[in-house]
Amino acid sequence: MPERTPQVLVLHTGGTIGMREGPRGFAPAPGALEAELARRPPLSDPGGARFTTAPFEDGTSVRYDVLEYDPLLDSANLDLSQWGRFAEDIRAHYDAYDGFVVLHGTDTMAYTASALSFLLDGLDKPVVLTGSQIPLVRVRSDGLDNLLTALWMAARSGVPEVMLAFHHRVLRGNRVTKVDASGLDAFASPNFGPLAEAGIDLTVHRERALPMPTGALHVDARLSPHVAALRLYPGITREILANFLRPPLEGLVLETYGSGNAPDARADLMAELASASQRGVVIVNVTQCLRGTVNEAYQAGRALAEIGVLPGADLTPEAALAKLCWLLGKPHLSRDEVRALMVRPLRGEMTLR
Ligand code: ASP
Repeated sequence: MPERTPQVLVLHTGGTIGMREGPRGFAPAPGALEAELARRPPLSDPGGARFTTAPFEDGTSVRYDVLEYDPLLDSANLDLSQWGRFAEDIRAHYDAYDGFVVLHGTDTMAYTASALSFLLDGLDKPVVLTGSQIPLVRVRSDGLDNLLTALWMAARSGVPEVMLAFHHRVLRGNRVTKVDASGLDAFASPNFGPLAEAGIDLTVHRERALPMPTGALHVDARLSPHVAALRLYPGITREILANFLRPPLEGLVLETYGSGNAPDARADLMAELASASQRGVVIVNVTQCLRGTVNEAYQAGRALAEIGVLPGADLTPEAALAKLCWLLGKPHLSRDEVRALMVRPLRGEMTLR
């Protein structure tokens, strides 16, 4: 018996991939993506009520539906409510599809990918975010390639994770960061290898993937909006730091130097951080560097741990922020429980050494 054609739901949330050029620059255009998909032979098999791709090398086509959001968004306009909505929409359609593709702007894709990795608790199907640097309506668009890789991963890989497909690589969603505003290789996963690579063959590195979860999918979309990120810089004043740490702040991603170092000689700054931590603000130390991890090699780093700042290991700032929003959104968790979970890998987002 021929294998059933895998089914994927594409959530089109916005982003360059579906944009058209208007009088004030590129902007989301309702219907533009679907019109373009219908015109592209590898993406649509004419005559079907839904979209079906031409067959991939393994002989399978992918059947997919597109759920277009209203309004479509430039991802710079996203906030926490949309993270929750994407997760809820995946849950609502979960049983009907083999996998999900989320079309999304590149600007905040790393944040959404991180947030979805936490929100989709018990995920046992692939969820692949993608988009493009050049709109699909343009002849040199990178969107076609990215979308085909994402569709294949969602339909055929069986990797039970939130991923990001871009420029011939599929990365763990909560490990990525946008590193290029102009080039087509826009994302890096500096501390974790790719989950798949699209060369002549599409190679899935299954050994890197998370194990299948045991429970069913569960989404609790409550997120704390009282989380901030602060990049340390030479000369930061006590007033600025104190203002930052004021209520209603509940969580802070502190982006420090090198392997997690802060100016420990500045007693005024250390006192502000210590008192915020004692008040219950959960402060997580991540590095400003693209690659590497926070450790206690230096006195200047150890001093932060001594006043209650949590070591974020190799968490990206995006993943640290999303994880804090998610954990602090759970009223049943005490601050000590949040602190304990913050330093433990929950979705492969950090490496403990
Ligand atoms: N500003 C766009 C967005 O993030 C950029 C993109 O999609 O590449 O929605």
